[in-house]
Amino acid sequence: MYYVEESHPAIIDKEMHTAVQLEMERRRAFAEKYNISKLDYATVDNPFAGRVICGHCGSPFGRKVWNSTDERLRRVVWRCNKKYEVKGKRAVRISI
Ligand SMILES: [Zn+2]
Repeated sequence: MYYVEESHPAIIDKEMHTAVQLEMERRRAFAEKYNISKLDYATVDNPFAGRVICGHCGSPFGRKVWNSTDERLRRVVWRCNKKYEVKGKRAVRISI
C-alpha cells in the first residue's frame, strides 16, 4: 500500500482539517472534565444534552419530563442531574 500526498485536491483544506481536530479534542476534554460519557448525543428534542453544565456543582444538566402522565400539565425541563443528590442544596433550573 502506498500513500501519496497532494495527488488530488483535498476535500477540505488543511486549515479546516486542523480546526476540526482541535474542536474534536476540545469536546473530548470537555466531556472528560464533566464526566459526560456520551459525546454529541444532543438532538432536536434534547439540544442541551452534554452541553449545559451546572454553575453550582459542575454536573451536566439533564432533560426531565414533568407530569408525563397528564398531557395538559406535561413539561420538559432541563435541570442539574445532581439536583436531588445533595439534600438542602438546590441547583439552577431552566425550562421551556
Ligand atoms: Zn448542580
